[in-house]
Amino acid sequence: MIYTSVKSQVRSGTIFLFILVILSGGFSIFYLQKLYIQTQHVSKANYQSLEYCHRMQAALDGTEQQGKANRDTLSKYLRLQRANITEKGEREATARVEQWFAKLKGGESSAVQNIRQELQTILSVNMQAIRIKNEQSESSAQEAKAFLIAIVGSILLIGFSFVISFPSVITAPIEKLTEAIKKVGEKDYTHRIHIQSKDEFGKLAGAFNEMAERLEYFENSNLNKIIFEKSRAEAVINSLQDASIGIDKTGTVLFANNKALQLLGLQVKDIVGSKAAAVSAQNDLFRFLLEEKGTVPFKVVVDNRENYFIKEVVDIDQEGSKSRVIVLKNITSFKELDVAKTNFIATVSHELKTPLASSDLGLTLLEDERIGKLTEEQRDLIQNLKQDNQRMLRILSELLNMSQVEAGKIQLDIAEVSPYAIADNAIEAVQTAAKEKNIRIQKLVAEHLPAVKADWEKTGWVLTNLLTNAIKHSPKDNTINLEIKEGDGHVAFSVSDQGPGIPPEFLPKVFDRFFKVPGSKVGGTGLGLAISKEFIEGEGGRIWVQSEIGSGSVFGFYLLKC
Ligand code: ADP
Repeated sequence: MIYTSVKSQVRSGTIFLFILVILSGGFSIFYLQKLYIQTQHVSKANYQSLEYCHRMQAALDGTEQQGKANRDTLSKYLRLQRANITEKGEREATARVEQWFAKLKGGESSAVQNIRQELQTILSVNMQAIRIKNEQSESSAQEAKAFLIAIVGSILLIGFSFVISFPSVITAPIEKLTEAIKKVGEKDYTHRIHIQSKDEFGKLAGAFNEMAERLEYFENSNLNKIIFEKSRAEAVINSLQDASIGIDKTGTVLFANNKALQLLGLQVKDIVGSKAAAVSAQNDLFRFLLEEKGTVPFKVVVDNRENYFIKEVVDIDQEGSKSRVIVLKNITSFKELDVAKTNFIATVSHELKTPLASSDLGLTLLEDERIGKLTEEQRDLIQNLKQDNQRMLRILSELLNMSQVEAGKIQLDIAEVSPYAIADNAIEAVQTAAKEKNIRIQKLVAEHLPAVKADWEKTGWVLTNLLTNAIKHSPKDNTINLEIKEGDGHVAFSVSDQGPGIPPEFLPKVFDRFFKVPGSKVGGTGLGLAISKEFIEGEGGRIWVQSEIGSGSVFGFYLLKC
């Protein structure tokens, strides 16, 4: 294909129009000229003959009076007439006039009449010619008119169709381009422009197609990437041991893994993509999960087996508004362990209590002077044994209490208790554990503290638990502070350590049952603080925690003054 630029197309278009104008002008001038020549020709030859004849006729009229002068005029115009013969029969008639003129010169008087006759012949021949030529010019004019109309008409037609069609040479590709750009704007990258020409538009279309191809490639690769990421995320979510449900900011369920579907007894199509409100109207467990705010363990029967779960809600910030992932942790194994532990503790405590009580009785009997005299050393030994026995009995009753709490049967024996007694008792209970890690427990206890409203054993257990946690989480050879001070209407107990601290996001959860700070290497069941909370709140007090990563933790509680 020959390369023609748009510029040269526009130029040739204009030249073409220009040629049409010149052609129509040229034809008009040509026919005007032709007509002019024809009329010129008619008038000149025949009108001259007419004039000569009239002159000769006038000269003949005067020949009788003026004689020679008129004869000269006659001969002069006869000569001119001879040189101006144009029509058929005019030559013969002129020759006959000449013959008769010669006779007239010879004196023949009848010649005048004959000359007049012949002149009349010449006149009518020319008149006839003029008429014919006039008719011819008229028909030529008609012909020229028709021809010009045809020419101008066809030029007009060509020019008009050119004017109509030529702009589309430029606008058609522009329209195609505009359409294609719109499609790309609407993310339809498969659209291509088909312009075969090699002009500027052809090049532009080529560049556009190349761009659309690249966009399509990127779009496809992005789409593949997104699809890949989506299926990866789905695989990860489904592989989670915990049931997880994602709800976006508009309340639409984004995903629910297999475990969650199994628990809810739903299919993917029933829940994914539906509004959470609509799902909760159909499903009681789902409604409970949406409504329930706390983290209390709850029971769900799956495959005819009781399963225990706790709910965790992870908030995800999505463009200013919150999306949620509800995670259900299966704590059945912990619960079972816990029940087993509770039963075990209850049984062991119960079984040990009787032999310990009887050995206590035996020791009391041994002390009696009536049985036998004891040396000083033997008395000391028995005293120590008795103290140990008492402590063991106390610990056993604490263990029994704890198993009761865990079984949901708390019985608080609230009385006036001295904070000093609670502190001493707790410190004594953790002495061995502290010694093992060479940890010093520093008492920062104010003087003259009022008595508090508490269950002596259970509060002692709480403080013991706080001290045990502090020891567990402190590095070796460290110091733990036990502070007790009076406050407004209460007495505040606090245990501070220099351990690793607790991340802020987990602080509100440490008092939840079974909660353990993720990543903590220290073992435990996550029950101690939950039981402590129940004890303290049961006594009308409040338990709290302050902690920062790297700066240790402070656990404390307030008890009401008496
Ligand atoms: P347990 O210690 O048996 O796991 P607790 O209820 O006593 O259960 O404690 C709950 C969780 O709180 C622990 O697992 C631990 O991660 C965290 N925690 C408790 N006390 C401390 C402390 N003094 N320093 C750091 N973390 C602590």
